[in-house]
Amino acid sequence: MGMTERISPDVSRLPRDPGLSGWNALLETPPLPRVLDEAITADWLIIGAGFAGLAAARRLAQLHQADRIVVLDAVRIGTGPSGRNAGFMIDLPHDISSDGYGSDLERDKRQIAMNRAAIAFAADAVREYELPGEAFQAVGKMNAAVTDKGLANNTSFAAHLTALGEDHTLLDADEMRRITGTAFYRGGLYAPGTVMIQPAIFVRGIARGLEPVVDLYESTPVTRLEQKGPDWCATTPSGSVTAPRVILSVNGHANSFGFYPNRLMHIFTYASLTRALSADEVRTLGGEPHWAATPADPQGTTVRRVSGVGGDRILIRNRFTYDPSMEVGQARMDWVARGHDRSFAARFPMLDGVTMEHRWGGRLCLSRNGVPAFGELEPGLFSACCQNGVGIAKGTLSGMLAADLAAGGNDPMVADMLAFDEPEHLPPEPIASLGANALLAWKSWRAGVEF
Ligand SMILES: Cc1cc2nc3c(=O)[nH]c(=O)nc-3n(C[C@H](O)[C@H](O)[C@H](O)COP(=O)(O)OP(=O)(O)OC[C@H]3O[C@@H](n4cnc5c(N)ncnc54)[C@H](O)[C@@H]3O)c2cc1C
Repeated sequence: MGMTERISPDVSRLPRDPGLSGWNALLETPPLPRVLDEAITADWLIIGAGFAGLAAARRLAQLHQADRIVVLDAVRIGTGPSGRNAGFMIDLPHDISSDGYGSDLERDKRQIAMNRAAIAFAADAVREYELPGEAFQAVGKMNAAVTDKGLANNTSFAAHLTALGEDHTLLDADEMRRITGTAFYRGGLYAPGTVMIQPAIFVRGIARGLEPVVDLYESTPVTRLEQKGPDWCATTPSGSVTAPRVILSVNGHANSFGFYPNRLMHIFTYASLTRALSADEVRTLGGEPHWAATPADPQGTTVRRVSGVGGDRILIRNRFTYDPSMEVGQARMDWVARGHDRSFAARFPMLDGVTMEHRWGGRLCLSRNGVPAFGELEPGLFSACCQNGVGIAKGTLSGMLAADLAAGGNDPMVADMLAFDEPEHLPPEPIASLGANALLAWKSWRAGVEF
């Protein structure tokens, strides 16, 4: 298959998350992590405790109650990409590399059904573990438009949703202003099915809920993964886990384990979260206390107004950069910060003087053909990776279905996941970098004021 040409069992790169996630910073400092410091055996090993890994753990625990399930993550729960995103668990098609989000009808219908299955799975966990309301709010989202192109995108996406039989409402400038408080937007397309999560509350809460049935170790990177007889052995700095079956849920870091070479694109995107608004500022802004807007042009700016733990705040998310090294430096963060401040000032001139308190970036993993990196890689080793930038729904989905595939469940969506093509080869470097960066820059430029 060409997915498993591993040169070495050593893990070539460990995750590095730039900046501290604001969502996590708003919460209490968690107790010290439980770090693996011995050699243990298990029935199942899950590597990576993001949306995919936690969903896999929950599904395995449902299917095999008596089994020992071990989950390892290199970082603290809620500090990796799953705790540092914008929080849109999206049911509708949302291809961030396309011009208008949608694709063909049949494919989109299948994807919607799968995303909704993931949302239902997460909703069950939220209920069972009694997570607070802020963790998971079924409030829908808007595609907010500023330019003629954005408005045209919304009109054509609305027609596509009509053809799909999906509920939606087109909003005019006045309605957008009533909701958001700003006159910046000329129109919007609201659809009710997206769930808005507070990422750090959500992932920390799911991990805590799993504690009784799963052995979870944080700050425990896997540095080597090798086959030993019928088992897999994962080495960590002060311990190891030996298990016959492993689920790899590390998104783009599948490459660092030697899998899917030259087939995964490592993209970063970035967020800034304001300080808490004062009561006066909240009054001056107006609008609703909670709303969430993705840009009508996928390359534009996501904006979210939150009101919860940490007070009333606004989140800005934009820019995509292609970084095959899977790392970004401070100069990049500073450049992005200036852009975020401009995007914020353009939308919220009435909040002049409100500064950003938290800024961070994080990894996405895309394949050129928009498919997941899913399936059995080698006997007993399963992949639930490559969520194509929309990992809250798709990561949850691939984790739960990888567990189903590995544990002999009978979910019919496993067949849908296996029916996707394999991730396509990338062109060789430097063409891949030059091509991807030029494309991203050009799309941002074209998004213009939408940015
Ligand atoms: C700023 C930003 C905004 C975003 N907004 C959205 C959004 O609104 N909606 C949406 O759907 N998606 C969004 N995303 C993308 C989303 O966060 C990802 O798609 C999602 O986190 C992928 O989930 P995952 O579980 O597959 O991988 P991850 O969340 O990356 O989890 C993988 C875990 O594996 C661990 N790991 C890696 N290597 C090792 C190792 N060697 N040993 C042990 N553990 C390891 C990592 O520490 C990590 O915790 C956003 C991302 C960013 C950065």
